[in-house]
Amino acid sequence: MPDEALPEWLEDLEKIPLDSRLRRKESLKRFNTWRIGGVAECLIDVVNVQDLRLLLPFIRKHRIPWFIIGKGSNLLVPDKNWPGIILHLSGDFKSWEPIEENFNSGKKKVSAGAALADVTFAQKCVPQGWGGMEFLIGIPGTIGGAIAMNAGAHGAETADFLEEIEWMDMEGNLHSTPREKLEFRYRFSELNGNFGRVITRAVLSLKESDPETVEKKILECQQFRMEKQPYNQPSCGSVFKNPPGDYAARLIEASGLKGKIKGGAQISPKQANFIVNLGKASSDDILSLINTARETVLRNYSIDLMPEVQILQSAVYG
Ligand SMILES: Cc1cc2nc3c(=O)[nH]c(=O)nc-3n(C[C@H](O)[C@H](O)[C@H](O)COP(=O)(O)OP(=O)(O)OC[C@H]3O[C@@H](n4cnc5c(N)ncnc54)[C@H](O)[C@@H]3O)c2cc1C
Repeated sequence: MPDEALPEWLEDLEKIPLDSRLRRKESLKRFNTWRIGGVAECLIDVVNVQDLRLLLPFIRKHRIPWFIIGKGSNLLVPDKNWPGIILHLSGDFKSWEPIEENFNSGKKKVSAGAALADVTFAQKCVPQGWGGMEFLIGIPGTIGGAIAMNAGAHGAETADFLEEIEWMDMEGNLHSTPREKLEFRYRFSELNGNFGRVITRAVLSLKESDPETVEKKILECQQFRMEKQPYNQPSCGSVFKNPPGDYAARLIEASGLKGKIKGGAQISPKQANFIVNLGKASSDDILSLINTARETVLRNYSIDLMPEVQILQSAVYG
């Protein structure tokens, strides 16, 4: 059998002087919380802004399919092999730096890198006694992913705490934009890799509180997850957004779909808006359950549930 043809752009990519590690034929199973998916032609652990500035214009110039991935905790990765470049931020993008202010505003500002884990962010706030974003303890993504998805829980969302966001466009220009100049909605942000924008860092504003209060809230959030969600099975959290005035989980449960199995995937018997991987789920098994839930709820209640989960697609910007 002849070797599979190498992509035309690969030789030029390998000539770019990068500090970042370039991996070939990387399985994407390890890069998403459903633990499914095919092999990416190329995955780059981008460690600094300089490398990102070289890579994005290169991707654009060669019209290479690409995707920016956080922890893949809101991502359905198809089982078929993926032909382009996956950018995975690490290194400098995991920073966490408190910002000193000369006056007492009752607020504390922190600069956080886009690759910092939400859980780490929440844990770092405890000894400082900085409150507000305790909900991040239950969200297994990154700060970049939390901004891109405007992640939230327990009545709060990421956009509420944002002051300024640093991001790069496909030409490699770095922007610093105040929160009020950007559009955020329920689980939507105009800053997302899908729109050719890579979040690199953000300044977040937290409330001054005390370590005991912050820790208590964190424990409450964790307790909620353990009681209400299938936290010990691979999933991507809520599959659908809640429709106005209702809950996707309620509608799916009322449609009799709780516990439904397709191949290796199941609509969680614990939380009907979660689909769990029972061990050997394929992306088609998950997609089939997504479609069943959507069609059944539409038929029963005339409500078209909108997926919150993103599907890894090849975006090409030229
Ligand atoms: C058990 C569990 C519980 C969950 N609970 C919640 C919850 O309570 N509330 C909630 O809102 N979500 C929840 N989620 C979903 C998910 O964790 C969030 O949406 C999270 O913010 C995604 O972050 P990520 O880093 O994993 O992003 P990914 O899943 O890797 O990516 C999601 C999207 O963000 C984009 N993106 C990621 N990083 C960047 C970047 N640096 N720049 C530009 N775009 C980027 C990607 O391109 C993609 O479009 C849960 C998931 C799980 C598995």
